[in-house]
Amino acid sequence: MFAVKRMLRPSRAAALARIWRSASTAAAPQPIVTPDIHFNKLFINNEWVDAQSGKTFPTINPATEDVITDVAEADKADVDIAYNAANEAFRLGSPWRTMDASERGRLLNKLADLIERDQVYLASLETLDNGKPFNVALGADVALTIKCYRYYAGWTDKIEGKTIPIDGNFFAYTRHEPVGVCGQIIPWNFPLLMQAWKLGPALAAGCTVVMKVAEQTPLTALYISNLIKEAGFPPGVVNVLPGYGPTAGAAVASHPGIEKVAFTGSTEVGKIIQSAAADNIKKVTLELGGKSPNIVMADCDFDYAVEQSHFALFFNMGQCCCAGSRTFVEDSIYDDFLEKAAARAKARTVGSPFDASNEQGPQVDKEQMDKILGYIDSGKSEGAKLVSGGARMGDKGFYVEPTVFGDVTDNMKIAKEEIFGPVQQIMRFSQIDEVIERANNNMYGLAASVFTKDIDKALYISNSMRAGTVYVNCYDIFAAQAPFGGYKASGSGRELGEYAIDNYTEVKSVIIKIPQKNT
Ligand code: NAD
Ligand code: MG
Repeated sequence: MFAVKRMLRPSRAAALARIWRSASTAAAPQPIVTPDIHFNKLFINNEWVDAQSGKTFPTINPATEDVITDVAEADKADVDIAYNAANEAFRLGSPWRTMDASERGRLLNKLADLIERDQVYLASLETLDNGKPFNVALGADVALTIKCYRYYAGWTDKIEGKTIPIDGNFFAYTRHEPVGVCGQIIPWNFPLLMQAWKLGPALAAGCTVVMKVAEQTPLTALYISNLIKEAGFPPGVVNVLPGYGPTAGAAVASHPGIEKVAFTGSTEVGKIIQSAAADNIKKVTLELGGKSPNIVMADCDFDYAVEQSHFALFFNMGQCCCAGSRTFVEDSIYDDFLEKAAARAKARTVGSPFDASNEQGPQVDKEQMDKILGYIDSGKSEGAKLVSGGARMGDKGFYVEPTVFGDVTDNMKIAKEEIFGPVQQIMRFSQIDEVIERANNNMYGLAASVFTKDIDKALYISNSMRAGTVYVNCYDIFAAQAPFGGYKASGSGRELGEYAIDNYTEVKSVIIKIPQKNT
């Protein structure tokens, strides 16, 4: 900072210092603890409608277990109606298909502006429905959602084909055309962001969408639907259906007219989606689970590595597909690391997600909480050493104590399966090639990380990891520009970045005969 100041003229340095001071003292945005619920129906063709069956289902506040509101429950009949709207919007000559690509970009930017306008409300609604701390909802979910829509707004008029010098006297070029009506099925752990990761590239490419949102967290996706309408997207371009997986979700995955399906969620359901999609050879992108290894070398920055390993697992109550859930620590620092990791977990503040002093809120629902408690029991009974937490907190709300297991071995259930909760597994290793082999010895391959100050070790390990993202001396860095997705059972295809556009485009070769004499 001194170096920077020396280079600046005094007046400019003073101005900058004022900005720094005001940024640090500016009041943090306060959540709306009881946000009004404006939308609880199905969003089809830019209208709010009841389900054909008339059915509704409750969405629950996981911090209190109270019903927030009842939401219309979509099923196959509603998916058919939404498909017809999306198909009509995709018809050649429709307002969406005749719209300039740059205008699509303007609409996506407008959507980002509207989300920015309503960001405190949206973050509050996410906290209410999902249970994540308000500061996370605002600073991570909403902030990254806005950036994602803006990033894809920039892509709309840059999706270019090629001219290709084929043999013979022909003019050959490629067009990257939108796939058509896309089905998108999203989970509950980052509802706003998963919606943006799916809608951003689909709309940039010019597709239309039938989206099934998670039954645990339908509310923010519905609010965004209204902003989509307000931004000026034509009717039928985006249709959003709350409902359950085996009914509405299955109808999306197997719909004969839907030409592509994108899914984020469990590997178990990913398999069902992939086989349902086989009937009409839908294009499929899957972003599934993980059991990501985090390798801590003895030469790391120790305190930093403890903190980042804590963050890698406990962020978002452990409900992250890429959570660093197998922490491998080198022998010589293992005991110290375990002690510090346990102390850090014990210091983690847990409670109401609307209270800014809490780092951790409740798990999303009772099913997830019970599943996590089951894994904790299995860790105890398989002989792992419990050094922090290990139980539910209180009896109201789905809170789980920040839990740390030491002396975990690779064959234990907690070392093999995705827990999706605040439970850290710490294992010991002594050789680099040994830890590489053990880190890769899992059906998943979503992310991996290494903490070391040695560039050779960092590169050797990162190149050896069978994972879609490798973090070196950091964790959970997400950016709209960088692709994200899985090797092995963690999925297929990539979201984000330029790569995501490929999921939503078909390549057409156009070949035109060129006359060789003037006829
Ligand atoms: P899930 O896979 O059942 O649900 C994800 C989405 O798929 C939801 O919208 C759901 O309604 C839908 N779905 C469920 N069954 C379906 C079907 N037969 N056809 C079509 N769609 C269907 O996930 P879950 O039950 O909420 O959580 C179970 C586990 O999945 C978690 O414990 C965690 O391990 C994993 N998970 C992973 C992610 C991720 O980001 N990769 C997100 C959520 C859950
Ligand atoms: Mg499920």
